[in-house]
Amino acid sequence: MRSRVILHSDLNNFFASVETVLNPEFKGKPLIVCGDPKQRKGVVLAKNEEAKKYGIKTAETVASALAKCPHVLRTGTHFGDYKYYSGKVREIYERFTDVVEECSIDECSLDMTASQRLFGSGVEIAEKIRLAIKEELGLTVSIGVSFNKIFAKLASEMKKPDAVTEIPEIGFEKIVYPLPVTDLLYVGKSTASTLSGCGIRTIGDLAASDEGLLCKLLGKRGRILRKYACGEDDEPVRAHKEKEDLKSIGNSSTLPVSLTDREEIKRWFYVLSESVTGRLREADVGRANTVHIVVRDDNLEDKTWQTKIPPTMLCGEVAETAYKLFCENWPRAKPVRMLGVTISGFDYHIEQMTLGDFLSDGEKRKKKERAEEAVFEIRKKYGFGTLQRGVIIADENLSGLDLRKENQPRSENPKTED
Ligand SMILES: [Mg+2]
Repeated sequence: MRSRVILHSDLNNFFASVETVLNPEFKGKPLIVCGDPKQRKGVVLAKNEEAKKYGIKTAETVASALAKCPHVLRTGTHFGDYKYYSGKVREIYERFTDVVEECSIDECSLDMTASQRLFGSGVEIAEKIRLAIKEELGLTVSIGVSFNKIFAKLASEMKKPDAVTEIPEIGFEKIVYPLPVTDLLYVGKSTASTLSGCGIRTIGDLAASDEGLLCKLLGKRGRILRKYACGEDDEPVRAHKEKEDLKSIGNSSTLPVSLTDREEIKRWFYVLSESVTGRLREADVGRANTVHIVVRDDNLEDKTWQTKIPPTMLCGEVAETAYKLFCENWPRAKPVRMLGVTISGFDYHIEQMTLGDFLSDGEKRKKKERAEEAVFEIRKKYGFGTLQRGVIIADENLSGLDLRKENQPRSENPKTED
């Protein structure tokens, strides 16, 4: 088989960067993007390079970010804007290839194998993309270039921000083998400690290990990880058409470290739900009535659960439902490596009498939905810049809201994340 040319493109500090493009006064100052910047209990969803220098991290509370940097600037989320810029970036990718796989709102895998004759080598194409994104949109990107998806992703992580990094097929060992195994996608802390017990500390150690031993240590995953370490990942870039019969909207994140602390985990559910409900609004498919979660442990095993709720588009309700589902099913001491939230069952704006209408806060909820809707409509009509600051969609703390008793029996069907 002919060698492939795969790019992995990752927009740097995406939410914070878009906020800065739209608000040049943020430039060069520490900035955090939060669900509700007025609430100290709010959660940091994104931060820029300057805020990182103060040690501010995603999913910590606004109060804790302020303790690290009292003058940090705060802004709410504007998913319409992020989606808009994400689409613009995609248009740039599509000048070079139609094989674009969206990994998340700010990350894509691109297959450039067939594009080289027209546009040059993988690195040359990556440079063209990096410059176009910078000049046309004012955003920066880190692009990895390699001969498979795993190494392209690895390369994109090696230099940030605003960089192109190549892991070439010939001589990849020199670059990849000295790196710690944890740099390899899907190797978590506990896997790493299992491996280090056998003296396997670098990706090179992993590649040189006996397959039988790895299978004994890690099960069939041992064989897969060894294949990745040897550069034998042959997963294709899966191009899928946008908005093709939208049935669900999901987002997942590998956590910076494995977590057991319930408060921290809850904040991650808020981070994910914020982006999922933002995209729900953008997709214009009404409200969702099902919340799914996926939780990965340190052994890379995924569990999923789902539950029905009265139709909602509110971040707080999705987050609290997801968190409740998690608490009911996940052992307290078991570390969490990755979390995902997906919503489905869209009502396409069909007005329904819901249980929510009978709740004391049913009316309040409706008003809030209408307010959010109004802001969204104005932005859509008059451009994304018009209603930026000043109007902030309140995302009240809904933890006091009694989640309905309507929960359906849960299905527990372990599967790999999509
Ligand atoms: Mg990014």
